[in-house]
Formats: sequence, structure tokens, C-alpha cells
Amino acid sequence: MDLGISGRWAIVCAASKGLGLACARALAKEGVNLVINARGDEALQLADGELRQLGVEVRTVAGDISDAAVRARVLAACPQVDILVNNAGGPPPGDFRDWQREDWLKALDANMLTPIELIKACVDGMAERGFGRIVNITSGAVKAPIDVLGLSNGARSGLTGFIAGLARQARLAGNNVTINNLLPGPFETERLHKTLDAAAQASGNSVERVAEQRRKNVPAQRFGQPDEFGAYCAFICGAQSGFLTGQNLLLDGGSYPGTF
Ligand code: NAP
Repeated sequence: MDLGISGRWAIVCAASKGLGLACARALAKEGVNLVINARGDEALQLADGELRQLGVEVRTVAGDISDAAVRARVLAACPQVDILVNNAGGPPPGDFRDWQREDWLKALDANMLTPIELIKACVDGMAERGFGRIVNITSGAVKAPIDVLGLSNGARSGLTGFIAGLARQARLAGNNVTINNLLPGPFETERLHKTLDAAAQASGNSVERVAEQRRKNVPAQRFGQPDEFGAYCAFICGAQSGFLTGQNLLLDGGSYPGTF
């Protein structure tokens, strides 16, 4: 299926590894030119090399996407933002009794206010041009909160509530600008491996055993692969997806147990 977005430009944040890189890869396969960002320059350059092989133009901006100056450089690097994929690392786990105001502000900055600032910078131009696709990578924990991920649950739910209103503005939806959230369950990325290592250490079990247990808890009996996530992201960025907006789309192998 041709998604009809060849030649368009996308910003993909936090895209040197994992789900962000998979989204960038899937968009590049559709002929979308890219501005990609991450803090570490080494992995970013490796991603750049891989994505260029797919025959698209790629520009890189190294830096923390929650820093306003970095966001300005990312935006300046993109000739025209047709597609925006918001992503950043998730906040650390813990007990809310230990968190200070600073911890909350950091989580809100990275996982709520940063995507909102980028959306603010792009969305009216998209509406004027009659095409825009915005995807926010959030988490399955928005629908099924995980106690120790309170910073993530809180910040991402704030973003989700805001998007629910914004996506329905006639000025945006009526001009072919869509905004959707993608909610990953367990995907096999570096981050997942780190959480498995931490769980193994805490429980005294081997990483293999912890991973096997986690896989068994997923109805699909496996972890998701980043490229599956990327393909879905590209699909909702496609020309054909203009009637899909304001949605929270779970990709979790059936883990969420509810009817809706
Ligand atoms: P990952 O494999 O650790 O990759 C994270 C990527 O984001 C890296 O390229 C990293 O590069 C970059 N990054 C992190 N913080 C950044 C920042 N502040 N500014 C710019 N770049 C940044 O993680 P992932 O599994 O792809 O997860 C992506 C998002 O999905 C996270 O928010 C995570 O919490 C969420 N999520 C993931 C899963 C899962 O199972 N994988 C499940 C639920 C939710 P640098 O470190 O060099 O910046």
C-alpha cells in the first residue's frame, strides 16, 4: 500500500534508537525526508547513516528535546513540518513519597510540555497547507497505570487530556490535520532490556526467566518488535488516515484487558 507521503518532511524526536528510530525508518521507507533528534550524537549518526540508505534526505539535531533551544534547532532544520512524531525517554520509576517538585517538573517538561510546544510551533502551518499528521508516543500505562511509573502516568495523562481537546478543533481536523497518541505495551527495545535487567536484579531471578514471565503475561505471548510499531505509525501518518484523529491507539499484544 502506497501511503501517499513520499517527499514530505517529518520531525521524529528521540529517534536514534528504539521506537523513535523505528518510526523514522518506516517513514523513510515511504519516501519521507527526516529531521531526527536524540541527546547522544554517536547513536544519532549511526541512525542517520542507516536512514540515508533508504534514499531520503536526513538531518540530525543532537540535544535534549525538552530544552527549548534544541527544539528551536530541530524546527529550523525542517523545511516544512508535514509530520511530527513526539517522543522522549520516560521518567524513572519510584515511589511518589520520594519525588520532589523538581522530579515532577522534569517529567511534565519531557512528556507533556515538550510535545505541546512542538505541536504549537507546527500545527497552524499544517492547517494552512491542508495536511498534517502528529503522533505522540505515550504508553499503555495511560490506559492501565503502573503504580511505580507514577511520574509517567501523571505527565502522559496530562498530555492525553490536552490532545483530546486540541485534536477536535475544527480548525485542525477540518483542515486534514490529525493528532493521535500511540500507546506502546512491551516492545523489545534497549529500554525494555534495562527494565528486565532491573527486575531480574531485584527478584534474584535470571533475566531470561523474568523475560519469559513477562512474555507469558502478554496474550500474544511475545514482546512487540519496534518495526511493527514503526509501520503502524507510518500508516497513521499516511494520506489515507485523515479521518483518524484524537485517538489513543494501543499496541500491546492484547495486554489491556478491557472491552474498550
Ligand atoms: P529507548 O530504546 O531507550 O530509546 C529512547 C530514544 O530516545 C533514544 O534514541 C534516546 O537517545 C532518545 N531520548 C531519550 N530521551 C531523550 C530526550 N530527552 N531528548 C532527545 N532524545 C531522547 O526507548 P523506547 O523503548 O524506544 O521508548 C520510547 C518511549 O516509549 C519512552 O518514552 C518510553 O517510556 C515509552 N514506552 C516504551 C515502552 C517499551 O516497551 N519499549 C513501553 C511503554 C512506553 P539518547 O539517550 O541518546 O537521547
